[in-house]
Amino acid sequence: MAEGWCDSIRLVYITLFFPGRNKLHLLEFLEMRIKGQRLGYRFAFLLCLAFAVTSLRAEVRVLRGFTLIDGTGAAAAADSAIIIDAGRIKWVGPVSALKVPSGAQVVDLKGRFVIPGIIDLHGHLGLTSGMTLDTKSYSRQTVEHDLKTYAEYGVTTMLSLGLDGDAVFAVRDQQRASRPTMTRVYTAGQGFVYKDGIGGGISFPGISTPVFSTVADVEPAVAEQARKHVDVIKFWTDDNLGKAKRMPFDIDKAIIDSAHRHGVRVVAHVYYLEDAKKLADYGIDGLAHIVRDKPVDQELIDSMKRHNTWQIASTLSREVSLFIYAKTPDFVTDPFFTRGVSADVIKTLNSPEYQKKSASDPNLEKYREALAMGKRNLKALADGGVKYGMGTDTGVPGRFQGYFEHLELQEMVEAGLTPMQAIVAATSSGAEFLKAKDLGTLRAGKWADLVVLAKNPLDDIRNTHTIQAVYIAGNQVYTKETSNDTNK
Ligand SMILES: [Zn+2]
Repeated sequence: MAEGWCDSIRLVYITLFFPGRNKLHLLEFLEMRIKGQRLGYRFAFLLCLAFAVTSLRAEVRVLRGFTLIDGTGAAAAADSAIIIDAGRIKWVGPVSALKVPSGAQVVDLKGRFVIPGIIDLHGHLGLTSGMTLDTKSYSRQTVEHDLKTYAEYGVTTMLSLGLDGDAVFAVRDQQRASRPTMTRVYTAGQGFVYKDGIGGGISFPGISTPVFSTVADVEPAVAEQARKHVDVIKFWTDDNLGKAKRMPFDIDKAIIDSAHRHGVRVVAHVYYLEDAKKLADYGIDGLAHIVRDKPVDQELIDSMKRHNTWQIASTLSREVSLFIYAKTPDFVTDPFFTRGVSADVIKTLNSPEYQKKSASDPNLEKYREALAMGKRNLKALADGGVKYGMGTDTGVPGRFQGYFEHLELQEMVEAGLTPMQAIVAATSSGAEFLKAKDLGTLRAGKWADLVVLAKNPLDDIRNTHTIQAVYIAGNQVYTKETSNDTNK
């Protein structure tokens, strides 16, 4: 009996927590079985518990000597330390009060800066290969490939907004039952589009998307996503600068009402102030892009606050991606960029043909204006007290997972936010929107999702580029020394 218990406990530990240490544990396990036979089952069970405690102790890691920026907005704290136990933060405080647990692995981070893992509230997974949209290849493998890329850039949680196949659900569910070694995924499953509109499978052929013609289409589609336990519902309302039709308002309202009846929150792709106002009035939970046609006004700010509508993502870096490739972008030679992309991508971005094609877009000037309007609007919403996160729209060609989250932070600061506001948006605020109580700050009890930086991001937000290491649930998922990033 007791051995049966032990079997289960050992197996759980080995599988979940110590994938690289099977041999050692197997030996311990065999030794225990022998002792169990000789000394009786009760003693064997006690031994088993003792081994379990030993295993956990071996998993204790102490980071010390760094400046802590904990994600809450509290002032940076020099000479800080964190004790990580089985993937969670057990203790955090000044080095002077640190008691190093016996047997703990100690990592000296003198001169470094530690921030919580970055949370992107608008990304996409598994759809892009290099500079090419490749929806046919979408699979668990392509999803996990992208989650690893995000992780290597310190983006430890992302919300995938509406272009997923069902493969994402298995990845997500497995992550939530364990300690992930790649970026945590939240998903909107399959987002909704209007038959004459844009988004989903209309904009990205090959993606399976519920397409709505009338209000009657709404309820069954929402019910199906709710059955899949999506984290949010997503829909698109936009006309692609007049070339398509926006989702009619009665359908917008029906989606929001239906999702709320199912207990699921709703976010939308928007462009126009008029749509943002209607959606906020209908009680939508989040806007997945910033308003870009007009300055936001007090009426929108008041409505968003009244309905707890978040500006979950401003996707300023998305606007940058629409015009920047008409020339060779500066970041093509940045080692922090090149470490995450293939040689083909760099070749394409440098190629005169690609640049000529990008430059031929008749709306190039409009995109620049939209970016300027978007920045102005983000600042106005933030000053007005609307809640906001950080989101990029990465994962489609030209919007590079990982690098663009850092570009987004930079754009947010250029929009007038302080580096601290940008960091809070990308950490604790992101977690708050996701209702992820264990994420977003570096406080005791939270998962140890964190990023070690060489330079202070509060001095210059571009210092988030100086990543030395990334941890997810205490697992070190990126280390500078073993990467091909030469930007030391
Ligand atoms: Zn998107």
